[in-house]
Amino acid sequence: MTDTLSAGSVDGAESVRDQVLDWRRHLHRHPELSFHETETAAFVADTLASFGDGLEVERPAEHAVVGRIATGRPGPVVALRADIDALPIEEASGVEFASENPGVMHACGHDGHTAMLLGAAKLLAGERDRLPGGELRLLFQPAEELAPGGARDLVAAGAMEGVDFVYGCHLWTPLEFGKVAAMPGPFMAASDFFTLAITGRGGHGGLPHLADDTIAIAAQVVTNLQHVVARRVDPLERAVLSVGAFHAGDAPNVLPGRAELAGTVRSFDADLRERLPVLIEDIVRGVTSAHGAEYELDYQFGYQPVVNDEAATALVREAIPAEALVDLAPIMGGDDFSAYLAEAPGCYVFIGAGDEEAGATFPHHHPRFRIDERALATGVRLHVDVALRALKEVVSR
Ligand SMILES: [Zn+2]
Ligand SMILES: [Zn+2]
Repeated sequence: MTDTLSAGSVDGAESVRDQVLDWRRHLHRHPELSFHETETAAFVADTLASFGDGLEVERPAEHAVVGRIATGRPGPVVALRADIDALPIEEASGVEFASENPGVMHACGHDGHTAMLLGAAKLLAGERDRLPGGELRLLFQPAEELAPGGARDLVAAGAMEGVDFVYGCHLWTPLEFGKVAAMPGPFMAASDFFTLAITGRGGHGGLPHLADDTIAIAAQVVTNLQHVVARRVDPLERAVLSVGAFHAGDAPNVLPGRAELAGTVRSFDADLRERLPVLIEDIVRGVTSAHGAEYELDYQFGYQPVVNDEAATALVREAIPAEALVDLAPIMGGDDFSAYLAEAPGCYVFIGAGDEEAGATFPHHHPRFRIDERALATGVRLHVDVALRALKEVVSR
């Protein structure tokens, strides 16, 4: 009879530290866009396969990889998740392992998430016979950055079947290295998206009275849309509306007959979330009809809000040293980790990866984004510690 492992008894930091760093830098050099993570998924699958018989590798959905560590003994099913995709950004971080894929960059830290979960997988697979019982499921998920997201494909493929507890983490540079945030309740916003085309008669820039100036109309729509949040939503309620794309026209003396906008809408409250597209369309309809133009509005509900389960979060907080634990205000960023939380109780954690000396001061999705790589060891240790606690303490449903 072998001893059962307890939390803290696998030292995640030391034995895989260099490998995790190498994996992270390899992935950073070779970023792939959402839903195109062919090489990344192959790398993950090959690396998992190299950990030996303790771990089975499955490919349940395109660009996704799931590793299973089944003890064969009764116990809960505990899922750990990493997202693996990169962003359409030209890297300007200046690191020596910068992207070799022009126009694509790991500018959100998902390379780190992937490497940390690989590190934890290696440690836990090596200890399979000493795990408390139950099953560990390692979810490597494509396309967190692009709605409808990769999580729902994994859920649809059955990756969450039987799962009793799900854990995920995000490296976070606005939080300094050494700090970790894990709060119960609403933590990340619902993120929805819209595209809007405004159409009318194009015409001569010198004869505006014979045309519909879709640029001027679209500009008014952008300005007026801010009134949705500023004037129509309770100021104590959380909501954001951002127009991130505005495309129209090619020449200085031509009024284009079409202007295209795209934006994102963030909220927490379910009723407000339903009401926002109605308020948006009111503005769009009013402004375009006032100026004789037409519109096509396409509104897509994206990710649900990330709401951490009370008991799951309490378990995770016990794995975080008291001096590291901080509380953050909920953030208006979204994450399709919520798709897993719809299937099982769980907790999504932010791991501090900001540091002035490490140059990790730029926001996520910035071309000069960097992480403090010391945070990788924190992430591995937490994955392992949370997994062991959950296998031991979570009651199988
Ligand atoms: Zn991101
Ligand atoms: Zn991210």
